[in-house]
Amino acid sequence: IEWVRMERLSKVYPNGTVAVQDVNLTIREGEFLCFVGPSGCGKSTIFKMITGLSGPTGGTLEVMGTSPKQARKQSDTAFVFQDHTLLPWSSVLDNVSLPLALRGVPRKERKAEAERALELVGLKDYAKAMPRQLSGGMKMRASIARALVSKPKLLLMDEPFGALDEITRQTLQLELLDIWRQDPKMTVLFVTHNVFEAVFLSTRVAVMTPRPGKVAALVDVPVPFP
Ligand code: ADP
Ligand code: ADP
Repeated sequence: IEWVRMERLSKVYPNGTVAVQDVNLTIREGEFLCFVGPSGCGKSTIFKMITGLSGPTGGTLEVMGTSPKQARKQSDTAFVFQDHTLLPWSSVLDNVSLPLALRGVPRKERKAEAERALELVGLKDYAKAMPRQLSGGMKMRASIARALVSKPKLLLMDEPFGALDEITRQTLQLELLDIWRQDPKMTVLFVTHNVFEAVFLSTRVAVMTPRPGKVAALVDVPVPFP
């Protein structure tokens, strides 16, 4: 099966805005695919459809061989937003284990999995900290850990580093590449308006046109560097 299959995928919002038009794209296991395009070109709309938060109005969309909603239920997809959306009154560990708690995973197992995820992002010493005690970069690491905790097959990241300063952004880019390389099955879909970030991170770049959002070009990046 393909990990994501889009065929003539379209989305017209109720107000008539054509956000996505006729997108054909197949995403394979282990890819790091960046969508790049100006704001308003429909990148977030595509992501919302892949995670089942918003339904397509035309074409076909399959995720892990099933519907986006079913894939989400199976914890096949996980989402990282730019604004980290950590719960302010819960510790870092509780925030990271939340997706497991929602699925009824027993406490002990939850803790072990959350600690593993925190270790992956270099935050294992901050399990007991509260979100407000973390810097912007650390909050982003915590939300990446929360996405990784349920071992998703597809990690969707929507401008995750957009709000960070340049040095923190570069550090997190390298850390993300490390995490991705450690797991050959991990597939990352990443949205950015920054062409350099796209080429630096990804194995393939989907270039989007503004309004209506179409994929204008698909570019292979043969040698991921550094
Ligand atoms: P991007 O993520 O590339 O900035 P979006 O997917 O957020 O783009 O938006 C694509 C287009 O759809 C934009 O013109 C935006 O204004 C419009 N749009 C987004 N969400 C809605 C909505 N809920 N209702 C109507 N139009 C929307
Ligand atoms: P939004 O305007 O917030 O993007 P939509 O108008 O696209 O949301 O969503 C309409 C309804 O379709 C929502 O209640 C959503 O739950 C539902 N929906 C979500 N995914 C799908 C899908 N794959 N197929 C059909 N409907 C869906």
